[in-house]
Amino acid sequence: MSLFSAVEMAPRDPILGLNEQFAADPNPNKVNLGVGVYFDDDGKLPLLECVQQAEKAMMEKPSARGYLPIDGIAAYDNAVKGLVFGSASEPVVSGRVATVQALGGTGGLKIGADFLKRLSPGAKVLISDPSWENHRALFTNAGFHVETYAYYDADRRGVNFDAMLASLNAAPVGTIVVLHACCHNPTGYDITSAQWDQVVAVVKTRGLTAFLDMAYQGFGHGIQEDGAVIQKFVAAGLTFFVSTSFSKSFSLYGERVGALSVLCQDKDEAARVLSQLKIMIRTNYSNPPTHGGAVVAAVLNTPQLRALWEQELAGMRARIKVMRQKLVDGLKAAGVQQDMSFMTQQIGMFSYSGLSKDQMVRLRNEFGVYGTDTGRICVAALNSKNIDYVCQAIAKVV
Ligand code: PMP
Repeated sequence: MSLFSAVEMAPRDPILGLNEQFAADPNPNKVNLGVGVYFDDDGKLPLLECVQQAEKAMMEKPSARGYLPIDGIAAYDNAVKGLVFGSASEPVVSGRVATVQALGGTGGLKIGADFLKRLSPGAKVLISDPSWENHRALFTNAGFHVETYAYYDADRRGVNFDAMLASLNAAPVGTIVVLHACCHNPTGYDITSAQWDQVVAVVKTRGLTAFLDMAYQGFGHGIQEDGAVIQKFVAAGLTFFVSTSFSKSFSLYGERVGALSVLCQDKDEAARVLSQLKIMIRTNYSNPPTHGGAVVAAVLNTPQLRALWEQELAGMRARIKVMRQKLVDGLKAAGVQQDMSFMTQQIGMFSYSGLSKDQMVRLRNEFGVYGTDTGRICVAALNSKNIDYVCQAIAKVV
C-alpha cells in the first residue's frame, strides 16, 4: 500500500498519443498530419533565419543568466504590446495594457484563467464547439465550469454564425468567452470582419468578458490583418484578455515563448492588474526563462531582423496556401468526386477535412496517413513530396 496505490492512469493526450503511434509505424510512406506544427517543403521543422541571426549576435556577446523580472523581459513585453495593439495605439501610449511574458500561449491562457478565477469565481467559461483540445481542460483545471458556444456546422461546411450569436446572447452577464482571434483551431474556419463586429456588439451589450486566443498571428492573412479583431474590441471600449503565442510564428515551439495582455480601463487599473498577474506567476514558476524571450525581443525590436521575420512568416503563410490549393487539385485528380474546394476557404494551419472517424482510422491503418479522429489535418505538414501520396490515400477512403 503506497500513497499512490489508488492513482488511476490518466488518458493519453490524444494528439501526443497519435505521435507515438506514428513513430512506431513501419510504413516508409507514412505522413504525420496530426500535430499542429509547421514543416517546410523538405518536411523539416524550420529554424528561422531571423532567429539564427539574433542568436548569433547573442553568442557574440554572451550574457549571464540572472533571474528575469516576474513579468519577463521589458523589451519583450513592449514588443508584444506593439504587435497586438500597435505600438502607437492609444491603449499602449496611455499605458492601460498589462502584459506579462508567459510560457507559450498555453501559459498566457493559464495565467489569465487563474487571475479570472480570483476576479469572478462564479463565472462560466464558454469555448467554441469544437475548440483547441486544451481550452476545456485548462479552464476546468483553473476551477471553471466550461461549456461551449455553437461554432462549426458540419453540414454547411463552415461556421453556423446565427447559432454562435444565439449562444453568446444566451450567456449570463460576466461569462468568459474564449475566442480564436484568427486561424481557428481545429476547423480552419474564421468568422468574417462583419461577423466580428456583431460578436463585439454582443460581448458589449451582454457584459461578457472576451478572452482572445492569438496563437497564429501572421499565419492567416498577415500580421496586421490577423490582429484586426483586437482593434474592434478596443474601438468598442471593452476591457479584455489576449494570449499570444510565438510557437508557430517564430517556429520556437520548445522555447515556450508567449504572453498575456490585459487591456484595462486606465493606467492605474493596469498597474493593479499587473501586480496581480505577477502573483499568479510568482506562485507558479516564479519567473520566465531567458532565452526564447530574448530572441523574440531582439527580432521584433531590431528593424532588419523584424523585416526578415515578416518575410519568413509570409513565406510560411504562402506555402500553406499553396498546399491547400494542391490538396484540392490533387484530390480531384485522384478521382474524388466531391467538391473539396472548401479547403481553400479555410485559413491557418488546419483543415477540417470532413472525413469521418472511420475514414481517418483507415487512412492511418492502411496508408500511414495520420490526422485526428475528428477529421482535422495539418495542412502545414504537407509538402511537394508527400502531397500526391496523401491525395491518393484520401481518394481511396472516401
Ligand atoms: N491556443 C491555440 C488555439 C493553439 O492552437 C495552441 C497551440 N497549438 C495554443 C493555444 C498553445 O500555444 P503554445 O504551444 O505556445 O503554448
